[in-house]
Amino acid sequence: MSDYDFDLFVIGAGSGGVRAARIAASHGARVGICEESRVGGTCVIRGCVPKKLLVYAAHFAEDFEDAKGFGWTVGPATFSWPDLIRAKDDEIDRLNRVYLGLLSDAGVTLYQERGTFIGAHRIQLGEESFSAERILIATGGRPWVPDISGIEYAITSDEAFHLEELPERIAVVGGGYIACEFAGIFNGLGAAVTQLYRGDAVLRGFDHEVRSVVSSELRKKGIDLMLESNVERIRKTGAGFELDLDGGEILEVDRVMYATGRVPNVRGLGLRDVGVEVSPDGRIVVDELSCTNIDHIYAVGDVTSRVNLTPVATYEGHCFADTVFGNQTRPVNHEYVPSAVFSQPPVGTVGYSEEDAVHHIGPVDVYRSEFRPMKHTLSGRDEKTMMKLIVERESRKVVGIHVVGLDAPEIVQGFAVAVKSGLTKERFDCTIGIHPTAAEELVTMRNPVRSHG
Ligand code: NDP
Repeated sequence: MSDYDFDLFVIGAGSGGVRAARIAASHGARVGICEESRVGGTCVIRGCVPKKLLVYAAHFAEDFEDAKGFGWTVGPATFSWPDLIRAKDDEIDRLNRVYLGLLSDAGVTLYQERGTFIGAHRIQLGEESFSAERILIATGGRPWVPDISGIEYAITSDEAFHLEELPERIAVVGGGYIACEFAGIFNGLGAAVTQLYRGDAVLRGFDHEVRSVVSSELRKKGIDLMLESNVERIRKTGAGFELDLDGGEILEVDRVMYATGRVPNVRGLGLRDVGVEVSPDGRIVVDELSCTNIDHIYAVGDVTSRVNLTPVATYEGHCFADTVFGNQTRPVNHEYVPSAVFSQPPVGTVGYSEEDAVHHIGPVDVYRSEFRPMKHTLSGRDEKTMMKLIVERESRKVVGIHVVGLDAPEIVQGFAVAVKSGLTKERFDCTIGIHPTAAEELVTMRNPVRSHG
């Protein structure tokens, strides 16, 4: 046993920090963890979990409409935002308690304080300080907004979860994960949504057909998607806000939400004093074992900005703990990380986009299918499902799968195992489909629609 107060001290009790703390403790380490906000982190408290609950809520409006096509008569439905927020908050409280239980069951000592380095092995917590042989930084990220006039009137996703009432008219600025998800939430719940994005199709970085299908589906849902639009200024008016757009237009809304990206939480940690290297864009620089340039200080999750997804942070935390305390060397592999956008309809994706595959892999064949999901043959809803497979010509490996449509995240999670395992198109072809499903399309696409190289 070392002379330090702890074998490991973790700063930040979100997904990555909690997993690392629990696993390190299970390997016999004496572990302390601190958290200035609520235990659970962005995902549980103000991210993935409450967001998905709101996505479910938003979907009911369509479900009531669609029910008519199946013989149902649904009476006038009303919606209460305060009831939804209360139910969501109760669930987040429950999860927060689960996380607290996980830490105490694992024997991890929790300090509900902000942690700051005051030495290479010492952390200040309020009035006290503790020493630790190793320190893990898992402080996550926070929303970033551009510095324009009136930006102080804008909310971010942090505040969107706690609005007292549902705005009648809202502008959502951005075209990434959060903007597309919240535009769908507010729209489904009955607000008039204008989504403003500076590019020519939302979800930059995704496959180009995913981007164009999502852009057009968002519009079909009733979102006023304004592409190639920038907000120059936000002004408060008596009733709400006016947004001056770069095209000269003025948009009047009751709320403005910015979802223009997130930045790592490194401010005020004292990293400079202990010499931890931070990149010019503010993320902690780590190697594949999550070690910083200081050999006993590590970092995982969004604060390292490798791939900013909860399951990645959890995986990084687990690998770190196994490597440092469990006697196994577990480098983190960020290849073929699946992800989803819970827009309406949602997106599921794993591997290379068509354009990235052409650029990084070379000759590829593209298989594609677009169809009306079976549910909508009776509902009458004009909504498409689009599926794509990207296949490396020489090896025949499936290197990318992209789905936009009902259940896309659930479908792609399963298929991600095949892509991660390097399975070939022929292995897909000899897999029997489940009929009738949308997912069976992924094992029944026969001829490429395009070949590159
Ligand atoms: P993203 O990086 O996904 O999107 C940011 C958006 O803001 C982009 O459309 C970007 O445009 C735009 N933008 C950036 N700067 C400006 C500016 N100055 N003026 C106008 N628009 C601007 O960030 P999010 O905030 O949506 O999400 C952050 C991260 O959180 C994601 O990258 C993801 O890793 C994670 N996340 C994952 C989710 C999931 O798995 N379902 C859900 C939510 C978040 P451009 O594209 O042109 O740069």
